Amino acid sequence: MKVLVVEDEPQLNLRLEQSLEAAGFAVDIAFDGEEGWYLGDTESYDAVVLDLGLPKLDGITVLGRWREAKRAVPVLVLTARSRWAEKAAAFNAGADDYVTKPFEMEEVVTRIRALIRRAAGHSSPEIICGPLRIDTVGGRVARDGMPVALTAQEFRILSYLAHHQGRVVGRTELVEHVYDRDADPDSNVLDVLVARIRRKLKVEVIHTLRGQGWRMEPPP
Ligand code: CA
Repeated sequence: MKVLVVEDEPQLNLRLEQSLEAAGFAVDIAFDGEEGWYLGDTESYDAVVLDLGLPKLDGITVLGRWREAKRAVPVLVLTARSRWAEKAAAFNAGADDYVTKPFEMEEVVTRIRALIRRAAGHSSPEIICGPLRIDTVGGRVARDGMPVALTAQEFRILSYLAHHQGRVVGRTELVEHVYDRDADPDSNVLDVLVARIRRKLKVEVIHTLRGQGWRMEPPP
């Protein structure tokens, strides 16, 4: 799961990046509206944290341009004031949720997780696939009630596949959603990671489709 943070205050940007990374997300960052708009327009994100007061291009304009271009990524807006007019403008421009500054980092993380789940059509924080229960809030996986220990990266891959159960996820798509854009993973690193996840899960839920990618589905 990859998140874009657009925030011009360096300290706040850093804290958001660190909190989201600690929560298991790959994170790209931007410090002004132009850079943020460009990244959101050219990269694939599962969610965006967007400040409204930004240099070069304000947040409402950035959001409006993405929506005009039919970019449906869930967007959590950060507003400096608790003024209703600003929130209304953000919702009208296509925001999915907002938090008012100052906020707790945990609130941003919780809301981002909820937005990603809802966008994937899951209303519960727990995703079930056969004997597996994937707790997207706690970052835990259990098979028949027994915990399965995954690394943060393995969890990110499993979580992305689980959010998109039943459809084929291609290699490029998976790379885009589990690594930040500075990462340049080896072409076979995903195969190695998926094989390792499979061994740990001890249940056949991730299927490899030669030349296409992977599809997660419950065992028959
Ligand atoms: Ca700002």
